[in-house]
Amino acid sequence: MPCALDAVSAAIVACEACPRLRAYCTRVGREKRAAYRHDTYWARPVPGWGDPAARILLLGLAPAAHGANRTGRLFTGDVPGGSSDFLMQALHACGLASHPWSRAADDGVTLSGVWISAAVRCAPPDNAPRPDEVTRCLVHLQREWAALPEARVILALGRLAFDVARRLLPPAATARRPVFEHEGHYRAADGRTVVASYHPSRQNTQTGRLTQAMLRTAIRRAAAVASA
Ligand code: SF4
Repeated sequence: MPCALDAVSAAIVACEACPRLRAYCTRVGREKRAAYRHDTYWARPVPGWGDPAARILLLGLAPAAHGANRTGRLFTGDVPGGSSDFLMQALHACGLASHPWSRAADDGVTLSGVWISAAVRCAPPDNAPRPDEVTRCLVHLQREWAALPEARVILALGRLAFDVARRLLPPAATARRPVFEHEGHYRAADGRTVVASYHPSRQNTQTGRLTQAMLRTAIRRAAAVASA
């Protein structure tokens, strides 16, 4: 990993700026879910990972309490069939991930052309970070984005990620205010683009709100824009 991304990741892992979130992550890591009682939870802020030459930044909401907060890697280690596997299955089908699952930080999964990140790096209670926590964490994303010189497209998973992506880029090139909708996209004044998708949470995937086909279409749209 280039040193700029190394420095960003180190700053994220060491961050203590949100007392509520730090306390929650630590408590979850100490109390654990029964199925993971033998695991040592990461319980720290979670940095991004993937291809340093990525043209697509894939932006999620935040680490899951017993997923990335346990494994130390975003979209890694959720329950089988959860958001980790659902996302990796779609990335693999689109030729952007080496495996159709994501189970542990040392599972050998590699990404091609994609860097996975999150709006907030500490698992929040009820998956709901407060606005002040989102704002505080934005500095990490800004530094990470700046350390990915090839990145042209943000694939935002969910409304909150979409709103954070808008704060990362200059205003849209058109006067129309960008609205979150699945497969919606807008181009910022500097030419970089945000593509939106519903988040692959189980609430969305188990209700059919987001299918594999829908997520793959959004990923392919992001890849097409990134390579244009
Ligand atoms: S959410 Fe972000 S800003 Fe807040 S403590 Fe975690 S890493 Fe730091």
